[in-house]
Amino acid sequence: MASESEQKSATIIDGKAIAQTIRNEIASEVSILSQKYGKVPGLAVVIVGNRKDSQSYVSMKRKACAEVGIKSFDVDLPEQVSESELIARVHELNAQQDIHGILVQLPLPKHINEEKILGEISIEKDVDGFHPLNIGKLAMKGRNPLFLPCTPKGCIELLRRSGITMKGKKAVVVGRSNIVGLPVSLLLLKEDATVTMVHSHTIDPENIIRESDIVIAAAGQAAMIKGSWIKPGAAVIDVGTNAVDDPTRKTGYRLVGDVDFKEASKVAGFITPVPGGVGPMTVAMLLKNTLDGAKKTFEQ
Ligand code: NDP
Repeated sequence: MASESEQKSATIIDGKAIAQTIRNEIASEVSILSQKYGKVPGLAVVIVGNRKDSQSYVSMKRKACAEVGIKSFDVDLPEQVSESELIARVHELNAQQDIHGILVQLPLPKHINEEKILGEISIEKDVDGFHPLNIGKLAMKGRNPLFLPCTPKGCIELLRRSGITMKGKKAVVVGRSNIVGLPVSLLLLKEDATVTMVHSHTIDPENIIRESDIVIAAAGQAAMIKGSWIKPGAAVIDVGTNAVDDPTRKTGYRLVGDVDFKEASKVAGFITPVPGGVGPMTVAMLLKNTLDGAKKTFEQ
């Protein structure tokens, strides 16, 4: 048996570096648009309440906008804002011509129906890609959604930019949520992969995962996918972002994925780290969707 140091290790897919490349590409396109039309893309970032995690995601997104030259419109609403007031704000943003994308940071407070709010965002500005019409079109052959959801789109982009063929390959998606698992499986199907979905009722997930050339893990279960579940040479994209206790850290916790990285990186061909894999791509895809939305309106 090979000793640990002799074992081959996977190529790490550096999501941070790939996202930076994409942000550079976006920045140069924004600058060309600005010269050509005298306008830049605009993104409204709406946050309700004071959740620490949401605030840090929103501030990351606003900073990323500034870096590439997209104008961000900050809408900060108090926790107790009513559903009708929030809907009225969304309608105002829908009508505002210098805004090409609207992002409502989730989760919303319990008294607000998220589904209703997401359905109020104009489909032309649905840069998160969560509008039922966009998801519906994604599910149908021959239809093209106006926007793809950012995290799933980021997963596909990571595979593409790492030179991993999806066509004809066996892919497994662990998780079937509306925001990650389901749309990423639909995107893999569009790429001509043969897709299996694993969820909390799946019997023997390890055997399904072990047969797969591509694994997208989005279950939100820390290190549930063991190295022995991975097919040698497989490409593993770990969406999972789970906080686990770590008394050695100042914060008292650290983030880990759904895949046992240490074990899996000895078996896989390619693997994303957590953090530094899918996370930065989600923000880059949000910027890309905003740019594409703006281009469509500028070119009309
Ligand atoms: P959800 O909780 O909405 O969905 C989890 C899915 O995983 C469900 O479909 C559930 O199955 C399935 N699941 C849960 N436990 C198991 C299990 N033991 N075996 C198999 N399937 C299981 O989560 P999200 O889709 O919102 O997020 C998934 C993960 O991705 C989280 O860790 C989240 O933090 C992370 N994330 C990361 C992003 C990024 O940018 N990096 C963006 C979005 C999410 P069932 O349907 O049967 O309940």
